[in-house]
Amino acid sequence: MNTVELIERKRDGGTLDTEEIDWLIGSYTSGAVTDYQMAAMAMAVYLRGLNPVELSAWTSAMLHSGDILDFSDIAAPKVDKHSTGGVGDKVSIPLVPMVASCGLAVPMISGRGLGHTGGTLDKLESIPGFRTELTPVEFQNVLQRCGLVMAGQSETLVPADRKLYALRDATGTVPSVPLIASSIMSKKLAEGLDALVLDVKVGLGAFMQDLDHARTLAETIVGIGTDHDVPTVAVLTSMDAPLGHEVGNASEIRESLAVLRGDGPDDLVEVTMALGVEMLVATGVEADRENAATRLRATISDGTALETFARVIEAQGGDPRVVEDDSILDSADRTHVIEAPFTGTITRCHARKIGIAAMRLGAGRERSEDTIDPGVGITVHAKPGQHVAVGDPLATLRYRHPARLAEALASLERAWRVGDAEPDAGRVIERIT
Ligand code: URA
Repeated sequence: MNTVELIERKRDGGTLDTEEIDWLIGSYTSGAVTDYQMAAMAMAVYLRGLNPVELSAWTSAMLHSGDILDFSDIAAPKVDKHSTGGVGDKVSIPLVPMVASCGLAVPMISGRGLGHTGGTLDKLESIPGFRTELTPVEFQNVLQRCGLVMAGQSETLVPADRKLYALRDATGTVPSVPLIASSIMSKKLAEGLDALVLDVKVGLGAFMQDLDHARTLAETIVGIGTDHDVPTVAVLTSMDAPLGHEVGNASEIRESLAVLRGDGPDDLVEVTMALGVEMLVATGVEADRENAATRLRATISDGTALETFARVIEAQGGDPRVVEDDSILDSADRTHVIEAPFTGTITRCHARKIGIAAMRLGAGRERSEDTIDPGVGITVHAKPGQHVAVGDPLATLRYRHPARLAEALASLERAWRVGDAEPDAGRVIERIT
């Protein structure tokens, strides 16, 4: 095959057949197709899109570029949840122990934070000793023993995506629905799941800032899941404001523990419950949504979800005492409080600005090689719908270096607004099946 001819055809709006796509992705993974050729192809796909047949072939080729996990010796239904990324989005951390306590097996492969969004792996690594890089055997053993495992992507799982995602990041080709959908789904389908639930974030702090684009992405992802016989449900949730009050790493573990103790903030609990219900229903463990919700709530009230979390922390090398005593988590000791310069009801608490500010403090990465400081972060006191008066705290920043604090404060300019409050619509916008 001729790579240039395939690039030119896609550039000019033509289609690629399944054999050509298989060859292209396989050759890119092996190095026979170069980065500069694949960058041109990614841009052609970004501009021209992929039709449903091409998208299915592209996803399958990525999926088969490496290992496919096999958990057939685990009897429980296997399910995972994936979020398209947001600010303060720590949902996976309480959710996974809750659904595992209901008898599901969750082989969760998570990512790291990049830019203004946080990553589950970075948050978990703020628990002293917690390891997220597991060998395939360790991954399997933890899943078998605990009913859940939360780790990073191994070298051999979807290597095509590892290369292509880095290339897209450097070539302005990340925000393409077919490229995002195939990237997410190739990794999720490689987990050998019985069902998948997607949290598609929409709003100021999300990849997809408007509902139409978020809906298109959700429908595309659900379509790929259905094509591969994996029941897939997408829930669209609002990401205009951070989820919960904490944005950081150790502090988000603290807030996740609060959810598991029955004391979490309403919006975080709402999204966690909505996704948990979908996971129980999609796997057929519960037919009725009300029963699913009752069962999830019981894992909190009887303490089993917290126990399950302690078990997986220990199994992955972490200090399980954290579930009883979260003072063992890091916390930067310098604080700065931002006070309200106005009186009124908060109408905007800008998730992206707050995410960027947290990154500037050291809670996130601007470049993938940056290191994370688990103890810095932002506690958001004032969220939409809340009334504030002049001098009330809007947020507390925990920091180590004054220069970083100054950068964070600069990115928080006009992050909060007051006005006529809209009635609280909740976080869950709609579900797509
Ligand atoms: N997350 C992924 O895994 N891939 C993308 O392309 C975007 C978000």
